[in-house]
Amino acid sequence: MSVADGLTSVRARMAAASARAGRDPSSVTLVAVSKLQPLSAIEEALAAGQRVFGENYAQELRDKAAALAHVPGLAWHAIGPLQTNKAKYVAKVATAFHALDRREIAEALGARRAGLEPLDCYLEVNVAGEDTKSGVRLADVAALHAQVRDLPGIRVVGLMAMPPLTDPEACRPHFRAVREAAARLGLSGLSMGTTEDFEVAIEEGATVVRVGRSIFGARPPRAGVA
Ligand SMILES: *Cc1c(COP(=O)(O)O)cnc(C)c1O
Repeated sequence: MSVADGLTSVRARMAAASARAGRDPSSVTLVAVSKLQPLSAIEEALAAGQRVFGENYAQELRDKAAALAHVPGLAWHAIGPLQTNKAKYVAKVATAFHALDRREIAEALGARRAGLEPLDCYLEVNVAGEDTKSGVRLADVAALHAQVRDLPGIRVVGLMAMPPLTDPEACRPHFRAVREAAARLGLSGLSMGTTEDFEVAIEEGATVVRVGRSIFGARPPRAGVA
C-alpha cells in the first residue's frame, strides 16, 4: 500500500469511528508518526495533504525539520521520552510534546522556547502501571500537573497514554480512565490511540491519534539499537 493509500484508509477509519461516537471528525487530529521513516515517505504524505508529523528521537526530529523547513504549515509533534540535554532540539522545532512526565523536562523545554509560542504539552500517563513504560501513574498525574502548569514557555493541554498492546477492546477502560482524569484536571486534550487501537481511542474521546504503521507500513530498524 502506498503512503497516500494508507492515509486515505486511516482517515476513513477515523471518520467512521467519529461517526459511531457521534463526534465531529474535525475534532480529532491525525499525527502521522514518521519515526525511522525516510524523508521520501514524509514527502509522499505531504503530497497527500498530511501536515502534522510525529517523531520520537530528538536528533532525527531536528534533522527532518531542517530538511523540510521550506514546507508551509508543517507541524512537528515530539512524541517520545526525552532527556533534558536534548530538549533544545524539541523546543526549537516542535509545536507539541506528548511525553511530559517530570518537571525537569518541562523546565528544560520552557527555558528554550523564548521568542516562540508556548509549547503545547501532554502529560504522559502510564495507565496500566507498567514497569517498562515512561509516564506517571494515574494517581500521580494531578501532582505533576500542579508542578508544571504555571511554568513559562509551555502550556499543558492534555494527557497522553499508550496502554499495553493487547487487543483494542482491552484498551477501552484505560482510555476511559485517562479521559476521566483529564476532565478532573480541566484538560481538553487527549492524545491516545496508535495503529493498534486508534478507533477505540476515538470512541473514547481522543482528540489526537498517533498513527505510524497504518500509514507508512513497517518501520525500518533503528540504527545502532540491537
Ligand atoms: C511509534 C509510536 C506511535 C505509532 O505507533 P504505530 O504502531 O506505528 O501506529 C505512537 N505513539 C508513540 C508514543 C510511539 O512511540
